[in-house]
Amino acid sequence: MIPLFDTHTHDSFDVFDADRTEMMARGKEKGVIGKIQIGCDISSSKNAINVAMEYENMWASVGIHPCSVLSLKEFPKIEDELEELLKKYPQKIVAIGETGFDFFHEDTPEIRFLQENSLLQHCHLATKYKKTLVIHTRNATEESILFFRLHREKLPKRGVFHCFGEDLVFANFATQELGYALGIGGTLTYKKNEHIRDAVQKTPLEFLVTETDAPYLAPQSYRGKRNESSYMTEVVELIADLKNIPVEKCAEQLVQNAKNIFQIPL
Ligand SMILES: [Zn+2]
Repeated sequence: MIPLFDTHTHDSFDVFDADRTEMMARGKEKGVIGKIQIGCDISSSKNAINVAMEYENMWASVGIHPCSVLSLKEFPKIEDELEELLKKYPQKIVAIGETGFDFFHEDTPEIRFLQENSLLQHCHLATKYKKTLVIHTRNATEESILFFRLHREKLPKRGVFHCFGEDLVFANFATQELGYALGIGGTLTYKKNEHIRDAVQKTPLEFLVTETDAPYLAPQSYRGKRNESSYMTEVVELIADLKNIPVEKCAEQLVQNAKNIFQIPL
């Protein structure tokens, strides 16, 4: 058994309501030693904290997913609400997000404006509270690069491009230019994703962390099923294979990276 750390999961979602405790136990049996529960809006951020409080070795990230930014029209100062949570649970919350750009589901000038505004607020909070930024980017490679270059001086020190799906050029930008990490999950194992495998192979291991994005994006052998942290072994094995190093060594380094990047007291 190899140690696993899931840096991005949504175990608070309803889809786990019926068997959450069993799922957590399965993870433990498969080597999962820690997880970060990710929020996508105010209520799921609160739920993420609750799950992180209920189970052992869990932490939380609070934020507004780019696909949920329309709520910002009602609460333009989302920062204040997130800050309240940060003040209340300073030890449990290790990151801010997920935040970022997503023009896959909807792409209008209004959405672009709201997403950029939201991302800026998340950056500000992460900097102020010295937390790690959890970044989502989909159909928005150019916009993400532009944003992070333009706002260089406002960026928090630590960040992760979660569910990394871009190519080596973007990987180099994220790791070498920003010093941020890449979150690697089930999509690494999908047949068509040669570009992700290429980027992972050529990116120094220190810049990689593992994640599930559960309940989504189960690795190839579980594809289409509800994802969970115990399936991460398949991803770690493939990373070790791409890096041509023993799987135990690879797994240990990936756990260490997660602890460093999220400053996990474990
Ligand atoms: Zn997610």
